Amino acid sequence: MRRSAGESNREAGDVPAGMQLTNRPVVFYDASMTVPSLERFDIVVNTPAGRLNTVLDVPTGFVPITSIVPLTRRLGEEILKLEEHRSRETGHTVSCRMGCAACCRMLVPLSPPEAFSLVEYIEQLPTERREAIERNVTHTKAELAEHGLLDRLQAVANAERPIADEELEPINRAYYALRHPCPFLENEMCSIYEARPAACRELLVTSPAELCDNMVENPVKPVPVSVRIGTVLGLLWASISGSSPRLVPLPLALDWARQHRKAGMQQWTGSHLIDRMLDTMWRILSHEFERRGQPPMP
Ligand code: SF4
Repeated sequence: MRRSAGESNREAGDVPAGMQLTNRPVVFYDASMTVPSLERFDIVVNTPAGRLNTVLDVPTGFVPITSIVPLTRRLGEEILKLEEHRSRETGHTVSCRMGCAACCRMLVPLSPPEAFSLVEYIEQLPTERREAIERNVTHTKAELAEHGLLDRLQAVANAERPIADEELEPINRAYYALRHPCPFLENEMCSIYEARPAACRELLVTSPAELCDNMVENPVKPVPVSVRIGTVLGLLWASISGSSPRLVPLPLALDWARQHRKAGMQQWTGSHLIDRMLDTMWRILSHEFERRGQPPMP
């Protein structure tokens, strides 16, 4: 582990090679104790698209897994920006624009921590908004049941073993064939934009927007993703909760999170969660360096 002088005395595990954490003398303390206190760390992450220098505000006390979802997603977005920059340098500009929601007819997978976060977000909305969203979700599930897909998605959400991509592929295709809009889509805009899953944030394309009318048949060119945050959070959750790695289909995320509410309320120290998250992220990034035939950056 590479630590600099003056580092915090937090009980941290090893930060993997390829990442570096250095604490700053900045501690945010909330005297009302309504939000966790935070300690700020500078972080360096080596990715196949370049080196990311950023800051992480790590909760200093005991927190549930949902506490680290926003900052893990932000790391993912910052890493994706490096990929976007690299694509632009090679003449491939992102063609996604506000108001285009062609990809919001695909099946979105959520990690359990994101499902817990989504339920938290929905339940704090004003009653009218919350009820409208819940109605859309119920309508989507009825539509899926009518086409014989609800049971298949429930089997995915509740599987006690990891589901192979080859098993998921026909389910993804059958779902996309319906072209059913995501239950969170309103007037072709995401109604939960700030809380949308990592998988939604990670789909950017550089091919002409009209090709997204058929994401399966057309030669759609996505921006490469070095590390999928849903995978990071899914593996992290599996390891700390002792459960099987799983991804929950978005239309079932609220049901799944409510059924497992007690598990979602468990707490760990923020530093422990961050260390495990960074370790998982770095393992995935290492594989990605290898897959692209690139040596990891020194
Ligand atoms: S959550 Fe939002 S961005 Fe994601 S598929 Fe649904 S509407 Fe689209």
